[in-house]
This record gives sequence, C-alpha cells and structure tokens, in this order.
Amino acid sequence: MDFALTQEQEAIFDMAKAFGESEIAPNAQAWEKAGEIPKDLWPKLAELGFGGLFVSEDAGGAGLSRLDGTLIFEALSMACPSVSALLSIHNMCAAMIDKFGSDALKAQMLPDVVTMNTFLAYCLTEPGSGSDAAALKTKAVRTDTGYALTGTKAFISAGGYADAYIVMCRTGVDGPKGVSTLIVKDGTDGLTFGGLEDKMGWRSQPTRQVQMDNCEIPAGNLVGDEGKGFSYAMAGLDGGRLNISACSLGAAQAALDKTIAYMGERKAFGKTIDQFQALQFRLADMEIELQAARVVLRQAAWKLDTGAPDATHYCAMAKKFVTEAGSKIVNDCLQLHGGYGYLADYGIEKLVRDLRVHEILEGTNEVMRLIVSRGLLAK
Ligand SMILES: Cc1cc2nc3c(=O)[nH]c(=O)nc-3n(C[C@H](O)[C@H](O)[C@H](O)COP(=O)(O)OP(=O)(O)OC[C@H]3O[C@@H](n4cnc5c(N)ncnc54)[C@H](O)[C@@H]3O)c2cc1C
Repeated sequence: MDFALTQEQEAIFDMAKAFGESEIAPNAQAWEKAGEIPKDLWPKLAELGFGGLFVSEDAGGAGLSRLDGTLIFEALSMACPSVSALLSIHNMCAAMIDKFGSDALKAQMLPDVVTMNTFLAYCLTEPGSGSDAAALKTKAVRTDTGYALTGTKAFISAGGYADAYIVMCRTGVDGPKGVSTLIVKDGTDGLTFGGLEDKMGWRSQPTRQVQMDNCEIPAGNLVGDEGKGFSYAMAGLDGGRLNISACSLGAAQAALDKTIAYMGERKAFGKTIDQFQALQFRLADMEIELQAARVVLRQAAWKLDTGAPDATHYCAMAKKFVTEAGSKIVNDCLQLHGGYGYLADYGIEKLVRDLRVHEILEGTNEVMRLIVSRGLLAK
C-alpha cells in the first residue's frame, strides 16, 4: 500500500494552489461583498484544464481521476471554498454529460463546457423535495420536437448565472425510475429565475430558484436514456461528495496554517499564545483530525476511481466525516484567534460560514448516515 502522491499529482496540487493564491485569494472577500464571481475567472481556470477535470481526453477534457480532482479542490479551497465549490458543481455536470450523453450531445456541448464559455448548473432540488429527491415534480411532456418542461428547482447554485442547466425531471412514473435528465440552455423561452437568496455563506456565488414554464427542449438535449436520470444524478453526486469534502479539507488546512502563524505572534500573559500547552493540544487535535480526514477522503476517491462496489458507501462516509471535521476545525481556529477571529479581515469567520453548508448539500449528513447504515444492514 502506497499513500504517497505521485510527482504529477503533487504538481497538479501546486499548480492549483499557486493559481488560488494569485487569482482568487486576493479577491475572495470583494467577490463575497459583490455577491458574484466575475465570469472571466472561469476561462482562466479552464486554461489549466479545470473546466473538464473528469471529461475524457477524447472530448477535450483533462481525463483526471477522482483522486486528482480532490487535490485540485483542496488546493483551490485554501484560497476560497465558495469559488472552489462552484467549480466543483460545473465539473460534476460536465462529467455527467461526458459519461452519459450521446455523441451528438457531447459534440454540441463539451467544447464550450471544457473552455468554460458554457458554465453549468445542477438542478435536482425542488421547493417540496430535497433529501427525498426522487419525489421531484418538475415535469417534461413529450412533444413533436422534444419536451415541454414545467416546474421549479430550488437552491440552485449559479441559478441565473449559468449558461446551461442540467435538470432532473419527471418523464414517467412516480419515483426514481420516472426521472430523466434534460439540458436547458439560458435564454430558453419560459426559463426565469427567483430572487438572489440571502445566505449565511457561499455568498460570492449566486443561489436562485430556477423556474421553467412550458420550456421547449429539443429531443437532442436529453442526457442518456429516458428514465435513467435519477441514476445519472446520483452517480454525479458520488464524485460531487468527494469534491465538496475536499473543499472543506483545503479551507480547514488554510485556517490551521493561519492559526499557527497567528498564535506565534499574539501575546497574552507575557508570552505568545502558542506557548500555552492547553492551546498546543488543541492544535494537535486539529492536525490529527485533518490528517485523518485527508486519508478517509483519498481512500473514498480511490474506491470511486477503481470502480469498487462499495464506492458509494465510502463516498458517503468521507462526506460526513470530512465536512464535519472541516467545520469543527475552522470553528476552533476562530476561537484561537479570540475576538479577531470574528472580524472579516482575518479571513477565518468567512470559512466558518462557507463550510457550514457542506454538511447540508450534495445530500445532508443525515442522508450520508442513511446510506452508510443501509449498506451495513444489507450485509
Ligand atoms: C447554498 C445551497 C446551495 C445548493 N445548491 C444546490 C444545487 O446547485 N443544486 C441542487 O439541486 N440543490 C442544491 N442545494 C439543495 C440541497 O442539496 C438541499 O438543501 C439538501 O439536499 C437538503 O434538502 P432540503 O433543504 O429540502 O432539506 P430536507 O430534505 O427537508 O431535510 C430537512 C432535515 O431533515 C433531515 N432528513 C430528511 N430526510 C431524512 C431521513 N430520511 N432521515 C433522517 N433525516 C432526514 C435532513 O437531513 C435535514 O436535517 C443547495 C442548498 C444550499 C443551502
């Protein structure tokens, strides 16, 4: 068993970290205040191959493994988890088109997707169905040319910002077997958006409802086969869960690094606060939890890369463990900064706010426990 990264993987991590430090970190707070990430950031990330991380090389993507992907999201999150997480959603959608789309759909969509001239959003959740996603009601009715699509999607990251939406909708019976996946392009007649959601974290990325009123969708915009959309959506989520975990991991690492530096400068009772053993033990606890989280995440990524039958089980365990460890670490880092941790200038309170949602989306951490316990009981 070899836990070391290859030279190539180390180079991928370093490249993403350097990009984050120069292009993202200096702007992260301003983008949060503005409530939007400038669109010209995405083609720059695409030049590094980050627009189609898991898209096959034949289709112009980087064809990276899931493990490679976690390194990129970890590194970018050291600069800003909100930016990194939004990139992860685009990549989850791109991978779905590459893996399940027809050759014609891939040829039509992927060139602009991998250059990030087309930014993608993932639309599963509805106002009445989140964890119970298979109860979705957005309906697509067959027409002569394709589908007439009507319904509302809630909490959509990049809603009103993306160039195309991957929409899970009902084309058949109730439950998961009646779900299909359609691509809805921005500008389609009948496509509108709700107001900007006012959120605790991830404030630099817009979240809105996506509303479809009798949208005419060409038959060619169906991803894969009718009735298989739910399994495509879930397959996308296994990888998405790894990516979001990596976002927690990178932000927690950045917070710990900042905290160690801060504790070496901040004085109380005549010495720097890193001299108090009670606080040294808290640093040790954070390091232990962080390194454990990294191993759990990379093992789950390896399971997904090798097509292990229990990959979903491991991705769910990793998502629950790593996102909770990440939230706990950034919160402890805030505490070790004292009052300064509560101020925006120190960059820690934003991480506490940004990471909280990682415990809720891509399947809540209760749903992760459901997946894990179901797997155990089925044995
Ligand atoms: C900022 C943000 C961005 C998002 N981006 C997207 C996006 O881009 N695309 C998208 O499709 N969705 C997105 N979501 C939606 C997100 O995936 C859902 O919020 C999430 O799946 C939970 O659904 P819900 O909010 O309806 O909660 P509910 O499903 O109503 O759950 C409420 C509570 O009940 C618990 N619960 C539910 N069922 C069970 C059960 N069987 N056993 C135990 N506990 C249970 C849940 O864990 C939770 O604690 C986003 C959400 C947020 C907040």
